[in-house]
Amino acid sequence: MTGSHVYVDFGAARIQQYLTRTAGLRGHRAASNCLAQATAAGAVGRVAGDLAEVNPEAGKADGVVSLRFPARDTDDVEGRVRRLQDVVFAHLRRALPGAEFHSVWGEGEFYLAVYAHVLRPKSQRGQVRHDLPPVAEFPLALPCRMCQIDPAVGVEPMADGTRQALCLDCSMRNVSRSQTVADERSPEGRLLRGIGLAPGPDDFTALAALGSAASGRNHLATIAVDGNAFGVFFKALADEGSRDPELRTAKATLSEALSAATREALANATLELPSTSQHERLCLVPHVVGGDDVLVSLPADQAWQFTLTFLAEFERLVREATADILDRLNRLRADRREPGAHLPALGPPTASAGVVVAHASHPLNLLVESAGQRLAEAKRAFGGREASVQWLDVTADGPEAPGHPPLALSVLRTGNGGASMAATALSRLTRVPASHRERLTEASRAGGPLTAAALADRVVGHLDAVRPFLPPLDRLDRLDQPPVSGVGLSAALNLSRWWPCA
Ligand SMILES: [Zn+2]
Repeated sequence: MTGSHVYVDFGAARIQQYLTRTAGLRGHRAASNCLAQATAAGAVGRVAGDLAEVNPEAGKADGVVSLRFPARDTDDVEGRVRRLQDVVFAHLRRALPGAEFHSVWGEGEFYLAVYAHVLRPKSQRGQVRHDLPPVAEFPLALPCRMCQIDPAVGVEPMADGTRQALCLDCSMRNVSRSQTVADERSPEGRLLRGIGLAPGPDDFTALAALGSAASGRNHLATIAVDGNAFGVFFKALADEGSRDPELRTAKATLSEALSAATREALANATLELPSTSQHERLCLVPHVVGGDDVLVSLPADQAWQFTLTFLAEFERLVREATADILDRLNRLRADRREPGAHLPALGPPTASAGVVVAHASHPLNLLVESAGQRLAEAKRAFGGREASVQWLDVTADGPEAPGHPPLALSVLRTGNGGASMAATALSRLTRVPASHRERLTEASRAGGPLTAAALADRVVGHLDAVRPFLPPLDRLDRLDQPPVSGVGLSAALNLSRWWPCA
């Protein structure tokens, strides 16, 4: 094959769990900074040396490294891949002692096709080379006092003046206050540079305190966002790319355009937060910003504004970035004449979100896990075909799965960014005093929405506030119909706890 390359990708497994495995924000920032430095193109390029170059066809995603070398000038491809993996793994291990890495490789004429047909399927089948943290040489060693996960290797002075036994990974995270500024290659550093605000707070308690006075200023939301159906989209591009050289050149820039859409949606959603204009500083912490995935923490009362703006902005930016390519792609798909090869037109990819609200002292790694589960529920409920969201309020409902179904974004926000019928009704519901809403929640749990409606009817005006969340009441044979607003009463009462007051 002329012009064929061998592509070698590296990634960190469960990177969100890894970054959040220690309690404090300072430790997360330190790990995030180290990851950004270690995976920056310059650093990886130096480590790879003559073995490979940084892959210019791959988009930028945190914690992911993509390299390539020409297939033609290598007799022993497998040997060269192995040597490359050895040096890159060793480099990453030095920077992030407790992380798990994996690497996958494949050969072909362009990256997206190799990614869609080789790298992604191999990763899904687990056909990857792993690099795990070394096991303890002394099984009886003291556990690390910061993470309780790995054995301690030494005793160090801590920021609070004490001395603690730490593992290698926590030693990397144990930096002084002056060093906790985000590296400009980290998700937080890039966001700050992009929007030009003062840096965010030093710890999660201070972050929660940036919420509105009415919020109690002690709850945080953890939000996980991920693109829908990007695999389908990339595979379609890879399939048609062999028939259309122009489409093939467009692919090289597409990953980059999608990463840019993710970052721009994050910047826009951050700037539109009420707390941003109130405090004129960064009021959220981005933990991970990948090609199409994002994980952030922010004050709980800002969560819905952020989520709805991010999902809508992402959809708009991705539609813009993919419009020409989609046109071309769909023409090619429609032209396929082989029998049984009818391919439906593809729409622009969207994103879904999982939102978890809890007290600021709740362990972040548990919230990250839960946000990931809510995200999976939201995607599953709509088959990845439209923007959607699922949420859990740990303080109100406990840590188990939520009792309400996920919602489509279109229920909560209109296509042009305005308030939907449900959003307007939710804003009205927030004006019902919280103690009344609690009684309505209990009545709804015990006897269903009609029992709650009967209770609401006893207070002037409250029935009007809950009516959009009830089945149509004018006809008794329609009581099994969905509520007019698209949101059920118990879900609405739950949402109203952190719904922004209009
Ligand atoms: Zn540790």
